[in-house]
Amino acid sequence: MEERLRLPYEPTPTECVADQPNAPQCETPDRKQHKPIIVRMRQLAHDRLRLTVGSLPAERGGIFVSRQGPLLIDDFVFDDSSDTSRAVYYPNADYLNTILERDYEPKGFCFVGVGHSHPRGLWRPSGDAGWGDVKAARSNLLSKSNADLAALFIPIIESHATTGRFRLHPFVMLRADLQVHPARVEIVD
Ligand SMILES: [Zn+2]
Repeated sequence: MEERLRLPYEPTPTECVADQPNAPQCETPDRKQHKPIIVRMRQLAHDRLRLTVGSLPAERGGIFVSRQGPLLIDDFVFDDSSDTSRAVYYPNADYLNTILERDYEPKGFCFVGVGHSHPRGLWRPSGDAGWGDVKAARSNLLSKSNADLAALFIPIIESHATTGRFRLHPFVMLRADLQVHPARVEIVD
């Protein structure tokens, strides 16, 4: 059954929270890369993100799908079955894979990313190769079912419920180096 899991995700004990003293350090994106990676996103995907994760309290999420690849996001699938009693977003892989297989893959869409919201001040993926969002993204890229993915779109979402504004903090993990890179999102029709 593992073959069909697009979203392997090992829960990690804690999310780093920048507001807390002594919070674990987050992996810093590669600052040597001057030009951010451009990710184009359809207005539809942006709207769906804004009206779901972008409006709810932190640590909600979902997945991005595309017909072309991780640098052109066609749609966003809100994970409305995640366990909201927890302080960290854990994707419900079974639920999301079911929707992918039923509604998207028959139409040529593929899983290309995971987005979730963070508490105030932590506007980058948490963790490193050993834990947190960075570890989860690596697991997704290294999963056999995602072997064709050259990159994974892993934005952190700032929700209106958290700061009074909806904002995307876009990042991409490249298969080439399994590192987190800053990205820039351009909305397209
Ligand atoms: Zn996170």
